[in-house]
Amino acid sequence: MTVYLVGAGPGDPGLLTVRGAELLRRADVVVHDRLSAEELLDLAPAHAQRIDVGKRPGHARVSQEGINELLVEHGRTGATVVRLKGGDPTVFARGGEEALALADAGIPFEFVPGITSAIAVPAYAGIPVTQRFSSTSFTVVTGHEDPAIGEDGSVDWDAVARVGGTIVVLMGVGRIRTICDRLMAAGRDPDTPAAAVIWGTRPEQRTVRATLGTLADQDLESPATIVIGAVAGLDLAWFERRPLFGRTVVVTRARAQASSLVARLHELGAATVEIPAIRIDDPADGGAALRAAVADLAANDWVVVTSPNGARRLLAECRDARVFGRASVAGIGPGTADALREGNVEADLVPERFVAEGLLEVFPDPPAGGGRVLIARAAEARDVLPEGLRERGWDVQVVEAYRTVQGAPSPEDLAAAADADIVTFTSSSTVRNFLAVCDAIPPVVACIGPVTADTARELGLTVDVEADVHTIDGLLDALVAHLNPNSTS
Ligand code: SAH
Repeated sequence: MTVYLVGAGPGDPGLLTVRGAELLRRADVVVHDRLSAEELLDLAPAHAQRIDVGKRPGHARVSQEGINELLVEHGRTGATVVRLKGGDPTVFARGGEEALALADAGIPFEFVPGITSAIAVPAYAGIPVTQRFSSTSFTVVTGHEDPAIGEDGSVDWDAVARVGGTIVVLMGVGRIRTICDRLMAAGRDPDTPAAAVIWGTRPEQRTVRATLGTLADQDLESPATIVIGAVAGLDLAWFERRPLFGRTVVVTRARAQASSLVARLHELGAATVEIPAIRIDDPADGGAALRAAVADLAANDWVVVTSPNGARRLLAECRDARVFGRASVAGIGPGTADALREGNVEADLVPERFVAEGLLEVFPDPPAGGGRVLIARAAEARDVLPEGLRERGWDVQVVEAYRTVQGAPSPEDLAAAADADIVTFTSSSTVRNFLAVCDAIPPVVACIGPVTADTARELGLTVDVEADVHTIDGLLDALVAHLNPNSTS
């Protein structure tokens, strides 16, 4: 019933405030700008109406009056309205005008401050806006003085120059030469360090370092935050030095499983494209065989799950905590063990090698009178494990816990994948399914382990990275080592 004027931060979705996230999660209407991160819009419930008031190619920008009216109109219906604005809603963002319009109409509103690009973007380039002794103030000023856009051309650049300290210019790219000239004319030294940070806090971030005298000659583009002052000469870069910064990585895992890999890639600095070449679906029989197997679970000596999906599907059918009886549980790989743990089952056996062969090596022999093993796994898995266990004398029942089916990626995602630098494969089926939907292969192919790598080679790919430790972390370590051969960490 309130309209919230929420700051979205400068781009990195992690820079939304906790309060902002909470409001987005219960919004009925989200009025956003063109550059709002998808990740933030995804926080809103599925039913929420999302209204893009930004300028898009082929569409006119909604005028400020139009936006004000829209907010009033939706506010009146009693809906929870989030007006999502880049950075902070009160810094060169016309949040004040929107609040006035709401106040005039008698509609309750709140400001939810955001992290402004004026401070955060320099920080992501390793430039603190103040520094003890050398930079004791910072002035944030608009470089946009076009009255048609609403600024009044009243910036007193002489005064700004005289304040000393750091000058942060937003919306300054279009008039950068005039701005630098005016500051120099007012006495600022042409050798003063200056930097422009373009697309700050995003995977595309680019920092141009120059001086007040040379900044206007550089190759700049919007949006950029311009920093002028001694601090711009500090080189504390960290964001752009992360090991996968500037690389785009294709993630081929099914969406349900991709999030941990995607999050780790973002931490390492990579941009990601998700081509969920596979989707995890019910088994062909709708899960009937799995349910029957679970009803009889305690009759087994061992229950074996070979993947996190298998573990989750099996546990989802276990409606009674006692269903395992005295059966022991084995899982291939630490991810599978974790999935079991999420369901409060501690695996009795997790082989050191995370492949079927590794489990066979350590699996016990059946007891004297024979013993039963249930294997819950994907429909299209290899037969190494059941066959190996049968040879050892076990009575083995295999049940389909899930099926991997081909995904249907959008044309935009396919185009982005074709331009990517790296593709990651976390199972043989991700290789097969990726090749079925995408024929442009990124230059670096990274596989989680030998089985996946063999499949990739059989299908004609050159495998550049094969993880020694067959986990997501192992894959990423191997990838980072491959791309940064001289780094020791
Ligand atoms: N309310 C916003 C500022 C809006 S004015 C805030 O508090 O951050 C828009 C200007 O902000 C852009 O022209 C640019 O100067 C700056 N800006 C916004 N996002 C940016 C980004 N990701 N990288 C660099 N500058 C950015």
